[in-house]
Amino acid sequence: MATYYNNDTIFYSDGAFVKAADLKLDFFSPTLHYGYGVFEGIRSYENEAGDASVFKATEHYERLQYSAQALSIPFDYTVEELIDATYQVLERNNLKDAYIRPLVYLPANMSFNLNTESHLVIAAWEMQPFLGDKLIRLMTSSFQRPNPKGFKIGAKACGHYVNSIMASYEAKANGYDEALLLDMNGNAAEGPGANLFIEVDDVLFTPPTGNVLPGITRATILGLCETLGIPVAERHFTTDVMKKADSAFYCGTAAEVVGVASLDETIFPMKWENTAGHTLQKAYKELVVKAEVLA
Ligand code: PMP
Repeated sequence: MATYYNNDTIFYSDGAFVKAADLKLDFFSPTLHYGYGVFEGIRSYENEAGDASVFKATEHYERLQYSAQALSIPFDYTVEELIDATYQVLERNNLKDAYIRPLVYLPANMSFNLNTESHLVIAAWEMQPFLGDKLIRLMTSSFQRPNPKGFKIGAKACGHYVNSIMASYEAKANGYDEALLLDMNGNAAEGPGANLFIEVDDVLFTPPTGNVLPGITRATILGLCETLGIPVAERHFTTDVMKKADSAFYCGTAAEVVGVASLDETIFPMKWENTAGHTLQKAYKELVVKAEVLA
């Protein structure tokens, strides 16, 4: 099994810095039984100045705040104190290139009554070195994204990830690298943990928010498109349309920008090095290590 901490690892927990090995979860937490909790996935990078930079820290903690509020989970932290705590976790663990995992979980409560308390942990672990620009092979999943009338789709809630895990397992069991999930209307939506863009005749398209997680990387890519003069539009499209696209890519905090080789058995024809996705991949890599990117 993977190990995310050792005896010296320090995590932030409810306002204090504690040994990761001493963290305890009450077995009767509804987060464990029902997936009732919220979390974030954040990256820090060793920047050009040699220090740790947490990429889009404000956006991630604002989304955590939103997610907690959307699920009626008590949340008494300011974004500023959580960013400060995050930098302290990095420093105390001597981390620069790290993955940061804030989790808001609930104390014991097996009833469906409103909670008056919650717990917050910020964990971090070292990112493995980057392994190159491999393109991924996608499979159209038999699992749809959750119905937005059944879930707060803009919230990063723990339980939503059962859907992501099932889709990812299915794709891998069928020999693909990752899944592409449709929305409840049959349009292409997103990956288990990443947003989707396609390129058609030099224009990028990405599904609008509503059925997908409004990704922070997605927003960053939309901003980079504006800066770089790459035309982009938010549109619904089917996988039939997608299979006629020139190229496609996924983007997310952990995945960054990753090119898509194929969907099911359809190969995207444009050479990755010639795509807008590749230009954005390079621009994203440069952006995340900029020393001034502190939030
Ligand atoms: N969609 C889903 C379902 C995700 O879990 C993620 C990862 N948080 C994303 C998209 C990408 O979001 P972000 O760019 O904020 O990491």
